[in-house]
Amino acid sequence: MGRLSVSPDQLDRQILGLGERFHREMAGQMASHVREYLLKEGRDVPALLSAAIKAAAGSLTAPVATRTMQKNVALMAGKFILGANAGEALPQLKALWKEGTAFTVGMLGEATASDAEGEDYKTRYLDLIDNLPAEIATWPADPRMETNHLGPLPRTNVSVKVSAMDPYLDPVDPVGSVDRLERRILPLFQHAKKSGVFVNLDLETWAMHDITFDLFERIVLGPEFKDWPHVGIVVQTYLRTAAGDVDRLVALAERRGAPITVRLVKGAYWDYEVAHAQQLGLPCPVFTEKSASDANYEALTIRLLENVDAIHSAFASHNLRSLAHAMAVADGLGLPPNAYEIQMLYGMAEPERRTMRTLGRRVRVYAPVGQMLPGVGYLVRRLLENTGNEGFLRLSHHENVDIHALMQRPRPREDINAGLQAVPPPAGLDSPFRNCGVLHFEDRAVTSAFGDTVERIRKTFPLQIPVVVGKLRAGGARMHRECPSDTSVCVAEIAMADCADADAAVEAAYRAWPAWRDRPVRERAELLERLADRLTADRIDLAALQCWEVAKPWREADADVAEAIDFCRYYARQALLELAPRPQGRRTSGEDNVLWYEGRGPCVVISPWNFPLAILCGMSTAALVAGNPVLIKPSSQAAAIGYGLFERMLQVGFPPDVVHFLPGSGRVVGARLVSHPLVAQIAFTGSREVGLGIVETAAKTSDDAPQVKRVVCEMGGKNAIIIDDDADLDEAVLGVMKSAFGYAGQKCSACSRVLVVGTAYDPFVRRFVEACRSLPIGPAHRPSTHLPPVIDRSAFERLTAVIKDPGPGARPLFVGQAPAGGHFVPPAVFEVADPAHRLMQEELFGPVVALMKVDSFDQALEVANQTRFALTGAVYSRSPAHLEEARRRFRVGNLYLNRGSTGALVDRQPFGGFKMSGIGTKAGGPNYLLFFADPRCASENTMRRGVVPNSPEKVRRPGDAPNQ
Ligand code: NAD
Repeated sequence: MGRLSVSPDQLDRQILGLGERFHREMAGQMASHVREYLLKEGRDVPALLSAAIKAAAGSLTAPVATRTMQKNVALMAGKFILGANAGEALPQLKALWKEGTAFTVGMLGEATASDAEGEDYKTRYLDLIDNLPAEIATWPADPRMETNHLGPLPRTNVSVKVSAMDPYLDPVDPVGSVDRLERRILPLFQHAKKSGVFVNLDLETWAMHDITFDLFERIVLGPEFKDWPHVGIVVQTYLRTAAGDVDRLVALAERRGAPITVRLVKGAYWDYEVAHAQQLGLPCPVFTEKSASDANYEALTIRLLENVDAIHSAFASHNLRSLAHAMAVADGLGLPPNAYEIQMLYGMAEPERRTMRTLGRRVRVYAPVGQMLPGVGYLVRRLLENTGNEGFLRLSHHENVDIHALMQRPRPREDINAGLQAVPPPAGLDSPFRNCGVLHFEDRAVTSAFGDTVERIRKTFPLQIPVVVGKLRAGGARMHRECPSDTSVCVAEIAMADCADADAAVEAAYRAWPAWRDRPVRERAELLERLADRLTADRIDLAALQCWEVAKPWREADADVAEAIDFCRYYARQALLELAPRPQGRRTSGEDNVLWYEGRGPCVVISPWNFPLAILCGMSTAALVAGNPVLIKPSSQAAAIGYGLFERMLQVGFPPDVVHFLPGSGRVVGARLVSHPLVAQIAFTGSREVGLGIVETAAKTSDDAPQVKRVVCEMGGKNAIIIDDDADLDEAVLGVMKSAFGYAGQKCSACSRVLVVGTAYDPFVRRFVEACRSLPIGPAHRPSTHLPPVIDRSAFERLTAVIKDPGPGARPLFVGQAPAGGHFVPPAVFEVADPAHRLMQEELFGPVVALMKVDSFDQALEVANQTRFALTGAVYSRSPAHLEEARRRFRVGNLYLNRGSTGALVDRQPFGGFKMSGIGTKAGGPNYLLFFADPRCASENTMRRGVVPNSPEKVRRPGDAPNQ
């Protein structure tokens, strides 16, 4: 290992010299494809891409247009993709070899929805590995391409796209994911070693980063490959953690005693990573400035070349500054030109490639193989990458390039050594609302803390859950709550509140009401903010309990806690905006009008088990911040989680006479609370049957009731996803899988009807059924589980009966196998033709899906609306006109376009339906709090004997009115 002793300024001088040399070599040349496709004057790249995508879908309305378009796109794709398979690629590979260019062959592939697709992908790789070397061996020798400073290099080199090998790779389950991947990828290494082929593992999104590195490490340290030098992996320098990757690889090579090839790239998923992190509230894994990735590239180039005995470096870039820098560093270290290589993309930078060859460097192109049209995803990424305003190719291929400017040292403003930055916590009630984001499961420390907590909590069972009316009451009837994944585990023993408890709680709440109502809104809002802080501090504990009590898989459990935190922070801020006094109406001299809202009285909160913390917390905090005491009646299946919330409410300072906790039977204590005359309001979320009963009971006003009851009532859904005939099936299949089987279909927003238009039906069914076959079923506390059990015995029996006998007119397309030991129900898919079929009308609340083929988008909308519910709906389509039509005609509370039907976030997707799905309120959205408060208006005549004092008029501020 050498140390670079050349100063940065000396390097810069040398780089500039190289730049001038490149410029001379490349004069007059320009990659014809770059000119033709990327830079042509007036060429609109996004329009080109959208045409490409449409053509790839193969379903434009006019068949002739489709054919022409497809031909054009295939032609364009042909410039960047070698052929559909190894056989088709060979002539191109031979031509490359002949001109003195080495290659690495990559197989195109986008989303993998099933094991069958992963297996197929593996088989296609085996085809490359097994069949290319024999033919390639007959080509003439070329020492520059076949040796590096460490010895011989295989002629055949393949790059493996890891994520396409398995549909269920997830950082939440790092060990399981690596195990799953190993089954597919180890055989590739074994065949490669046998045939003398080099294998590189490609790196894609950040989510796959650790999994890919762990897999690589496991394979290359294994006895079969420990001394096999022809293995490589990618380091992406736009990642804030890339320096750690290089250190890890250097250590790995030293540990095994054989070299590793590292392909150094900037990274191709920048837009995705930024948007993804922003949407989920995760730390952003990539630098925000392009120049930071460039600077990091240079820093890591030095580190790699300094370790030339352990690492064979492949500098993959089209940026001549980056490449010149690598060459200058290698010279500075006294390395021979074959101690590293330069890699470029096939079809993208021919003049650069030629120049590098002329300068005696080994150049390898990344040569993609696969179907042209499905390869459009690859194409789009490459075109965007290279045509962005900062893209080097775009800059360097314009006339009048200033070589000095192009060879400038990157000088980022951000610190490239700062590492991953955690998202800062909100800065108090006066800062704007922001979703708290999900846990960063990509971080191993988080995953193992979660796993440890799941185990630790298990040891505290059975939890003792009391009734609390002002003070704790144990005694009385109790209920055992068993774990749905393992019925031998008793999670909690729950005290059952009775009617006397209900009466006592309502009376205490009624007495506490005036003082609570008259407390300033800001004080109540501050309590919500404190509750949010508390829930944040305990979020893993609260989520881990959900894994056991209601069988929520890790990610779903975490999302529920995140939503609860969001409700607290959102309603706290909305209360200040919506409830506080404000001037009302036109400003008029001599008159002062003020409007404000105040609490109505005791509010009964009755919640379901399926979002056990979020919904309970949302309804309770909305009622509380609006000035109402609450009587919490959690679902019996989720009372321990409910108690977790209640305890924390008291801990952060909610007065004990303002929140009461009444677990117990809905029919007994729930019904008593609803009918109690002193109750002013009921906030209910649950089934339609119970909801309608509550609306009816609450409508009866007894003689001793001080006011008319109000009901906020959120009920069920029978949600449809429409798949248009031009939909992207990769996205549609994955979206339906998640929407239908996430939390075993036990979400009010779950998709249980899929309406597929025309020609998309057969391919959709084929892929969807295969995807169902691969769905991992298991206990929720295991991180590998995607389909957990259903909530209890009665749900299990009800669903099993439906699956066994769905009624005439339902043809089973797939019914899976379920394990024993818990309330496991397999995924079940039926084909129906009648929109009135029971499977198309009843809310089943389980992993059961009805598929129906429709003739047109118009019919799809009609069928979608043909239900008594109107909660959520989704559409997958590439037609803007159809998406627009769906906006107008798909009558649901929450409509999702080109995404699944579940996963609403507070503030961004205010949630709630109408018709039989609810009374039209939107939880987590504007005006929701107004349902929990009575508006008041005060008008003062400020005129005194014809004179207006404080003219033009007095403006009241929050704090002037009684409840401020
Ligand atoms: P459920 O209606 O059986 O129970 C809901 C709550 O009502 C429970 O706390 C229960 O104890 C109580 N209850 C039962 N009978 C009662 C009575 N007679 N009087 C007063 N309270 C009574 O619903 P569930 O099984 O807990 O939850 C699943 C249902 O909730 C599904 O229909 C689902 O669609 C719906 N849901 C709707 C939304 C939404 O936002 N629209 C959200 C989540 C769940």
